[in-house]
Amino acid sequence: MKAIRRFTVRTVLPESLAAVAALAANLRWSWHEPTKALFARIDPQRWEDLDHDPVALLGAVDPARLDELAADSAFMAEAEALRADLTAYLEQPRWYQSLPDAPQRIAYFSPEFGIASAIPQYSGGLGILAGDHLKSASDLGLPLIGVGLFYRAGYFRQAIDRDGWQKESYPLIDPDGLPMQMLREHDGSAVRISLRLPGGDALHARVWQMQVGRVVLLLLDTDIHDNSDELRGVTDRLYGGGGEHRLLQELLLGIGGVRAIKRYVDVTGTPAPEVFHTNEGHAGFLGLERISDLIAEGLSFTEALQVVRAGTLFTTHTPVPAGIDRFDGELIERYFSTDLLPAVSAPDVLALGTEDYEGGDPAVFNMAVMGLRLAQRANGVSKLHGDVSRGMFGALWEGFDQDDVPITSVTNGVHAPTWTDPRMVALAKEKLGTYETSSCDWRSEAVTDADLWAVRRAMREQLVTDARERVTAAWAEQNPGVAAPSWMGELLDPDVLTIGFARRVPTYKRLTLMLHDPDRLRALLTHPERPVQLVIAGKSHPADDSGKALIQKLVQFAADPELRRRIVFLPNYDIGMARLLYPGTDIWLNNPLRPLEACGTSGMKAALNGSLNLSILDGWWNEYYDAENGWAIPTADAAGDGAERDKLEAEAMYDLIEHQIAPRYYDRDAEGLPRRWLQSIRHTLATLSPELSADRMVREYVERLYVPAAHAERAITADDHRPARELAAWKARVAAEWPHVSVTHVESGGVQSPQVGDELKVRAHVQLAGLSPDDVLVEVAFGRARNGDDLVDVRRQPLELAEHELGQPATFVGMVPLARSGSFGYNVRVTPKHALLANPAELGLVAVAH
Ligand SMILES: *Cc1c(COP(=O)(O)O)cnc(C)c1O
Repeated sequence: MKAIRRFTVRTVLPESLAAVAALAANLRWSWHEPTKALFARIDPQRWEDLDHDPVALLGAVDPARLDELAADSAFMAEAEALRADLTAYLEQPRWYQSLPDAPQRIAYFSPEFGIASAIPQYSGGLGILAGDHLKSASDLGLPLIGVGLFYRAGYFRQAIDRDGWQKESYPLIDPDGLPMQMLREHDGSAVRISLRLPGGDALHARVWQMQVGRVVLLLLDTDIHDNSDELRGVTDRLYGGGGEHRLLQELLLGIGGVRAIKRYVDVTGTPAPEVFHTNEGHAGFLGLERISDLIAEGLSFTEALQVVRAGTLFTTHTPVPAGIDRFDGELIERYFSTDLLPAVSAPDVLALGTEDYEGGDPAVFNMAVMGLRLAQRANGVSKLHGDVSRGMFGALWEGFDQDDVPITSVTNGVHAPTWTDPRMVALAKEKLGTYETSSCDWRSEAVTDADLWAVRRAMREQLVTDARERVTAAWAEQNPGVAAPSWMGELLDPDVLTIGFARRVPTYKRLTLMLHDPDRLRALLTHPERPVQLVIAGKSHPADDSGKALIQKLVQFAADPELRRRIVFLPNYDIGMARLLYPGTDIWLNNPLRPLEACGTSGMKAALNGSLNLSILDGWWNEYYDAENGWAIPTADAAGDGAERDKLEAEAMYDLIEHQIAPRYYDRDAEGLPRRWLQSIRHTLATLSPELSADRMVREYVERLYVPAAHAERAITADDHRPARELAAWKARVAAEWPHVSVTHVESGGVQSPQVGDELKVRAHVQLAGLSPDDVLVEVAFGRARNGDDLVDVRRQPLELAEHELGQPATFVGMVPLARSGSFGYNVRVTPKHALLANPAELGLVAVAH
């Protein structure tokens, strides 16, 4: 029989355990070891069985145990001390509070958030990054508010069947079993967010509120009675549906998310966001809701657009086209031709997302393109990815060199307290006196090689134990009642060089590159003196059969009785597994097709634990590899075809393992210590930990992007939005005149036979059409001239107005120092200039001398 109605009875803890309840209600426990240790004391076995979920734990322990704890004075004293520590963490000023003029609030939108394994609302790197962003924002004291969706079944749970094929299941998550609360109106009723849909229906959502340290996370949830069955399913799964289902999720996230913030600000009486950060394009519709609000205040669409752009930051995360959301233009038109946002017209919306550039598809609505057009600031997630993104989206700024495309980069980081094994933290605290990533001197003799190696071994052993348990549990699930084969208890060896590889399984990540030459891999795994073992994990998107086929190939290879103790695929990669996997590996392997890995963060998490990276020079590794912290697999991008490239890169990887990595790892002294290897670990910990920390990343976002965005938004909204109106009018005028703007003539002189130290005089005549000299920036761009006259290492210097007679070209002059010997070239470029522009390329308008 099916229940006609169901509800969850929430645990009511005895009043005396209020401190424990308070600790469980704030997700800060997920990165605070002492708080986790307290929960574990309640019932160590259940704590493990329930995947470190304090709310589930408190619901599951029997009331007699709770009474016992309430009477345990040592436990109670610890709980009270931890609550006091949490309160201090929430209330005391932190880094952000020392900044003058910083934004009063920042909204951070993301389709997924990976915070703790007990809250499976993420699929991979994007979500984990968002979770780490919130945690570091909290640690640094940012007034950040996160916005996402609450997915009833999260992503999916992965099992591997006997044929090695991935099977997905979708266990439902009970919102009442999670540390969240419903957002309520002043009168106590639940906040309802509603979106009008074509055909007159509406999509309704409730809003959950999670406390991630100091940061609030709002999650919209459509699984409520107000909705039809179909619409209840809008937030069913992460990346589950295509087309319209996906669009509904994104409309809810963007438009619904801004509405949820407005309700939150109203009911809590706290400041509204000045800056909106959209983590990838999925949340891009947020800008349209904000435009709609500004139109209601009397602005036109283009005026409102200026305001929204000023305060918006767009972060792009992928150079892989399949990673970018594109919708059928007609679908977008249908949704925006209704009462969804009555003040915003469908053609205006369509224009924002259309690929109206060379190579674009005019029938498609591109969320990344809209993201870039709605944001005055944009970034990629590593230096290399910034460059790749400038190339990929360069068509939106036609006429500009790739280097001038206004997309910067902030390299991702990872939240150190979440991702550093407690043993490493304990070692640092004990021997170095601190575990601040920025002040830990891991090269100090205070930590001996023996200490460090003992911790590394303990972490390896922890992984081995976990892998055995996982494989045995997976067997039990598939073969109920049949005892697991004994070899599963002997899987892997805590004293063997351990290589880890775990990630989602899109093609570009090349899960099976290691299988390129199976005999060679076999020889590495079974080497008599210097064996290697491999621990592999990863989920394929449910709709991606080619990814599943890769997993199958690997699982089948690993099933060979001669190899199965040295290579293992662990099902259901998630945060819980990852936290043991990274510290337990000696080498973290990554072999994407360069440059398709935007950043990659798993290697960073491994490095924080003293694991060395072996990776293609892609993403973060491209900027941090220094020959001492790991190994670089050379990229064979000059190879004739993909197969040739795979072959060359795989062989290089085998060579590195065989000739460099394994010999160094097994090179032991009389005490059994690999001194040279330990030196690399110390170097890695000392130099990379502060750089790879999400604190460094969040600080960069604040200083380079959030603060300037807040200032831009304050400037443009001052005086009842007068600057926004003026900017919109100015842009229209500039765009109309621009086809007539040109550099008519350039003269130079002052040097006979040029030598270093000379100065070149430049005089440029510029036809300004209807514009004034103040409307333009005239610059000389100079550098080394390469073949084909291409300028490289370009620098730029503004020219000053010298003469301007009405109706005549204006003359601009300046001097260029010849600071370097060798070939020299220059050109003159004109771009629009306005105090409210963040970048000369912003309007996509440029005139250069020919
Ligand atoms: C860090 C992490 C990822 C992302 O790793 P990449 O190197 O960016 O692929 C994916 N899944 C989990 C569980 C992680 O912890």
